[in-house]
Amino acid sequence: MTAPPPPHAAPPAPADVPADAAARRAVAPVICYPTQALAQPPLDLYAQARALARPISHCHVPARDGAAFRVPAGGFFRITCTGGPQVGDLNLFNATNPHERFYSGKTRALHGTHLNVGDRMWSGFPFLRPMATLVADTLGWYGVDDFGGRVHDVIGSRCDPYTHWQLSGGDQYHHCCHSNLTRALAAEGVQDAEALVHDVLNVFMCTGFTADTGQYFMKASPVRPGDYLEFFAEIDLLGVLSACPGGDCGAEHSSDAASCHPLLVDVFATPPQALAGWTPPEPNGYDRSHGA
Ligand SMILES: [Zn+2]
Repeated sequence: MTAPPPPHAAPPAPADVPADAAARRAVAPVICYPTQALAQPPLDLYAQARALARPISHCHVPARDGAAFRVPAGGFFRITCTGGPQVGDLNLFNATNPHERFYSGKTRALHGTHLNVGDRMWSGFPFLRPMATLVADTLGWYGVDDFGGRVHDVIGSRCDPYTHWQLSGGDQYHHCCHSNLTRALAAEGVQDAEALVHDVLNVFMCTGFTADTGQYFMKASPVRPGDYLEFFAEIDLLGVLSACPGGDCGAEHSSDAASCHPLLVDVFATPPQALAGWTPPEPNGYDRSHGA
């Protein structure tokens, strides 16, 4: 009887390696989506506006739960670590049309696997426009560690009860980020909330891919109480944030085993004169004919 294949493809046998393998591998990569052609965020203007912005609301996200918040276009929102190291899973929606949602895949293709100051959170098709711009990050010092880990990824989707059910042999767990986001969105009166929950920005999470197998890894977040991420709202936003049951995601998620802490979201509004000349980005200009 033939043994089952290993979980990751073995290197091909030498006889299968073409003679020009080294030359093929030596082809230099090119960046898929050079972003130089994109309009660059006016970070100086945003900084001037931030200096004049005033707090208008705040939102406590309980441990292993989710909560929603709204941000006016031209305003800011700050996600702060409070009681202890904690990862957050963030979804963004157009506040007036929840079908315009954050698109982690294209954001990743444009900016990379993890977000840095100046990067944007883009909405999906057919809108494809900036929803929010990252303007401050107290973990900006982290960079990349010896394992290839970085913070704030757009690669990990969100922990969810379906994958957990598969991997655990049938356990029912109700406080995965997917469920926390679903409950928080439904509480805002959004119909069909679960179907609109989408792949997240993993706030404060430290992740990467293993060098040998290419598998997604996580490690304990370097975040500490007082650390924060802050965004400029490019359009009117409805945000939902889950305080992941994985806590700092140093061991496991999809259970109550990890030490978990609340997160705080502060929302700031900007006086109109502080953003003179600025208008929210229009939805994408492609004509949607698709050549037909
Ligand atoms: Zn989670």
